[in-house]
Amino acid sequence: MDIFSVNPSNGKTIKKYTSHSDKQVEKKIKQTHTAWLNWRNSPRAERGRLLKAMASVLLERKDELSNLMALEMGKPLKQGIAEIEKCAAVCEYYAANAADFLKDQLIETDARKSFVTFQPLGIVLAIMPWNFPFWQVFRFLAPALAAGNCGLLKHASNVPGCALAIEDIVKAAGFPQHVFQTLLVGSDKVDAIIENKHIQAVTLTGSTGAGQKVAQKAGSLIKKTVLELGGSDAYVVLEDADLELAAETCVNSRLINAGQSCIAAKRFIVVKEVEKEFTRLFVEKMKAKKIGDPFEEGVDVGPQARIDLRDELHQQIKQAIKQGAKCVLGGEVPKGINAFYPPTVLTKVKEGNIAFEEELFGPVASIISAKDETDAIRLANKSVFGLGSAVFTKNISHGELIACTRLEAGSCFVNSQVKSDSRLPFGGIKQSGYGRELGLFGIHEFVNIKTVFIA
Ligand code: NDP
Repeated sequence: MDIFSVNPSNGKTIKKYTSHSDKQVEKKIKQTHTAWLNWRNSPRAERGRLLKAMASVLLERKDELSNLMALEMGKPLKQGIAEIEKCAAVCEYYAANAADFLKDQLIETDARKSFVTFQPLGIVLAIMPWNFPFWQVFRFLAPALAAGNCGLLKHASNVPGCALAIEDIVKAAGFPQHVFQTLLVGSDKVDAIIENKHIQAVTLTGSTGAGQKVAQKAGSLIKKTVLELGGSDAYVVLEDADLELAAETCVNSRLINAGQSCIAAKRFIVVKEVEKEFTRLFVEKMKAKKIGDPFEEGVDVGPQARIDLRDELHQQIKQAIKQGAKCVLGGEVPKGINAFYPPTVLTKVKEGNIAFEEELFGPVASIISAKDETDAIRLANKSVFGLGSAVFTKNISHGELIACTRLEAGSCFVNSQVKSDSRLPFGGIKQSGYGRELGLFGIHEFVNIKTVFIA
């Protein structure tokens, strides 16, 4: 089967790739397993040195890599460069901290000596999406390699160029041959790969549907999974919020990566006293964003990554309007063969509306009116998802209380947009998935937390 990468700005095919045959896949898995038998015993300092080298390779190639993203999935160049810099930072972070995170922990018991040691598992299969084609991979890969695991990547079918570039970056950094490889395969091949005895664990970032299928398969074989799935993050704007700051932050969060981010704010829940002014500011700021060619300087919003996904998004908007939402900005498909969609604002979005209940994976904001703070928190939590959430208030200690104890999500921010950070654990609850990436918790997901007891 062939895999095509298509430029979403003009619908033209960039390149055709031949997918790996079953035989090739099997060979690659074997090669990576063989590489792991040595890599598992590599000194931690050596792993750190190689991760640092990988950070340098990423930074040297950031222009080329951001060009590739702009071509394959439409990310504006400046955002692509920031993504590559973030990948370099996560490599540096684990280079500096992994040895500490993986240090044996002595625990006093009745033993002569008892301790916990963190040992690698083997090959982790990573099934990754197209929206941050480098970041999503590196945030799995850096801790995996640091822990002495190996990685195989099944990337999204629309970013094969990025997938192969990652393999090349690992090689250029000087890692031993085959500790990481890309498998160019469609999602129909994933079950068989999970079944392979050398695959010890699976991490997936993507839709809830894909997560369910992969977790079901891995679960049937008792193979561990980490799932980072969708979200419909609620940002709560209280009566005492700094509305200018709230509107600015909410717009920036909604438009991250042309709205195609799991932790982009999607539902804006505003108490009725400030709803009118917040909406005015929000619409004004959404309107001011520049949509266009990702290669052009100053463009904030590029095309959606694929035409089919854009069309699906537009169907959701049409349905939302049918169900009572009011479209006050955007909402129209631009002419021509491309995947563009304009920044769009829906107001009067209520419980039961598709824009309230489902994830809108594009530059579309839903403004939801709340009677008061209690109602706002109720509405924020009334979602099948629980990835991120934010609250805007000038009362910082009250904001902290809401973030800490009221909002149901894996990350809750006060007066700021939700973002991932190498130092902080990242992941969701409910249908947004389970397990954590990044920080100390991220590196402990794919290790054997082994107890050693010496009588
Ligand atoms: P998918 O979830 O379908 O794709 C993500 C990854 O999973 C890809 O590598 C894909 O491969 C793979 N995959 C898909 N189905 C299966 C399966 N049954 N078994 C094994 N692997 C599978 O995302 P889409 O690209 O179709 O986007 C659809 C929606 O997913 C978006 O609108 C958004 O809601 C959500 N999404 C969420 C992301 C996040 O960051 N949480 C990222 C991307 C999408 P292949 O490309 O070959 O199908």
